Amino acid sequence: MNKILIRGGRVIDPSQKMDRVAGILIEDGKIAAYDASADASAAADGDVTVIDATGKIVSPGLIDMHVHLREPGREEDETIKTGTAAALAGGFTSIACVPNTEPPIDTQGGVEFVRGQAARADNCNVFVIACVSHNREGKELAEMGQLVEAGAVAFSDDGSPVTSPELMRRALEYCLMFDKAVLSHAEIVELTQQGVMHDGLTALILGLGGIPPAAEDVMTTRDIALAEATGGRLHMMHVSTGGSVDAVRRAKQRGVRVTAEVTPHHFTLTDESLRSFDSNFKMNPPLRGQGHVTGCIDGLIDGTIDVIASDHAPHAKEKKMQELDRAPFGIIGLETSLGLVVSQLILPGHLDWMTALEKMTINPARILGIDKGTLAVGADADVTIIDPQARWKVDAAHLHSRSSNTPFDGWELQGRAETVIVGGRVKYRVE
Ligand SMILES: [Zn+2]
Ligand SMILES: [Zn+2]
Repeated sequence: MNKILIRGGRVIDPSQKMDRVAGILIEDGKIAAYDASADASAAADGDVTVIDATGKIVSPGLIDMHVHLREPGREEDETIKTGTAAALAGGFTSIACVPNTEPPIDTQGGVEFVRGQAARADNCNVFVIACVSHNREGKELAEMGQLVEAGAVAFSDDGSPVTSPELMRRALEYCLMFDKAVLSHAEIVELTQQGVMHDGLTALILGLGGIPPAAEDVMTTRDIALAEATGGRLHMMHVSTGGSVDAVRRAKQRGVRVTAEVTPHHFTLTDESLRSFDSNFKMNPPLRGQGHVTGCIDGLIDGTIDVIASDHAPHAKEKKMQELDRAPFGIIGLETSLGLVVSQLILPGHLDWMTALEKMTINPARILGIDKGTLAVGADADVTIIDPQARWKVDAAHLHSRSSNTPFDGWELQGRAETVIVGGRVKYRVE
């Protein structure tokens, strides 16, 4: 029998609205008991691993619902093995991967391949998001029923928007049958051609092609209208504009079934960073002006934004080294997410721990409909023990990801995962 007793930590579990110092016993891969009964059960059996969590935060295992694992097809950027290792190092016990691989995940075989590779990697749990459309071409719906049968937890053509409103309408309607969410990359591509960065003063000064906020706002509004019309479940990925936050806020007030996520880079950085011409500040949607950053943070504070997700997007060095207008969009994020949440949201007082962890545990679990994100007795023992005081320096050369395209190299952050337990097994520990 495999038992772990986590002692003396401050347990913060938003799913149970719990915030207190408690002991937790893990037995046979499940959360078995709290406090005195945890101690008693542990004492009754000599074979117990005790983890002293004094001064630490004990959270349900963190979940990142927006990760590009690149395998199959682009193993030079990331593999399922290296991506899940990066997830563990970032404190994540579960991730959901998006299907814009080569080939895209639009068949049962594709879903099964990813799940098989994840099982072989044996790092964190991997949930598969499958394509909305065949081959991500935006023409006809993928075989959603079969994909759900194979284990797909949601649908997205991320990397691209679902351009056709008719296809998006049918996707939302069809997904109602399975109670799955459609995850939207909101972009009107006619408005973003040749765009490299946020369409603002900095783009003008640097002479770089702009990506206007309207390109996102218009699509967000369209998708909300379609969700409202169908009753379908919509999730807005990587929200980056004040306008989108507002649209989601008003939609929620009307009872539309819409949820939304923001990435750490969008609540941390502005388009001013591009003055360095460093392609590690190039992503889609782009870094915006301060007003939009504030809008995103306001959305996180008032609950309009449900989730913090990294949009971890690895690209091999030689691709990112190209000149700015040729370099691909996207940055890695799994290993810096938690540190940025603590340093940029919790320490400045925007969010308390309970609210921040809610957006990284139970909220993404509910949107994906997965049985995760809780430390309730009987739940899978996925636990992240966080050192809220730890100060550490991001070192791009020594991350677990196969790629190093982070804009945060050299940053000093506070807060990191110290011990990560997946299914009752310690999978990661800071030495
Ligand atoms: Zn996207
Ligand atoms: Zn993405």
